[in-house]
Amino acid sequence: MYRYLLLLTLATGIMVSLVCGQTKFESDTLKSRDGNVIMTFLGHGSLIFEFKGKIVYVDPVSRYADFTQMPKADLILVTHEHGDHLDVAAIEKIRTEKTQLAYTQACANSVRGGLVLKNGDERVIQGIEVEAVPAYNIVHMRSEGVPFHSKGSGNGYVMTFGEMRIYVAGDTENIPEMSALAKIDCAFLPMNLPYTMTPEMVAEAAKRIKPKILYPYHYGNTNTAQLVELLKDHKGIEVRIRKLQ
Ligand code: ZN
Ligand code: ZN
Repeated sequence: MYRYLLLLTLATGIMVSLVCGQTKFESDTLKSRDGNVIMTFLGHGSLIFEFKGKIVYVDPVSRYADFTQMPKADLILVTHEHGDHLDVAAIEKIRTEKTQLAYTQACANSVRGGLVLKNGDERVIQGIEVEAVPAYNIVHMRSEGVPFHSKGSGNGYVMTFGEMRIYVAGDTENIPEMSALAKIDCAFLPMNLPYTMTPEMVAEAAKRIKPKILYPYHYGNTNTAQLVELLKDHKGIEVRIRKLQ
């Protein structure tokens, strides 16, 4: 029985980790050829990836964690300048003189000392391949003709840890460029209105990206069960729901 439970735990990959004694956050571990990738879910768009002793934060925001209690960052990636993604106070708490920061041009106006990545840029930072990819709205508009996220201003990121390719989409809809993303093992796709995607749009995007594991994130009050239902016949895509409202 114990052995069965252990196998079950490994199969679902879910773990609850204790980061420096504060709130328990969920985390999942992926096994790459070069070692484990540990992903910790802080909430909404805030994520941590650990690989070979390096700590990578994506969009750390104080609303989701007490960053005075969090491990220092080797790399911080920021997708765009909106307050639920760019939080200068959180960045300053996890930044040391060795931390590298990569972000968009609009973020550079608020935080200095980072590397500006444009859509299509690829860099190896702290030994991790980082590719900035487009993230924007086609349908959902702030006002007529003005999207919540305009093309070219925000980034999604594809990070390669060993051979494991993880795509964090940022605030985007199911844009045509997603079809060109190659060999994505794990994708984080945003699912809230009016800013990003409906469950139908996330399902459509996932069918084109074909990740082995899909995390809806940045999902607010959206019913995640709807996405699970939409993808239930796509056995190649495992939908994992974590606390990423
Ligand atoms: Zn946004
Ligand atoms: Zn957002």
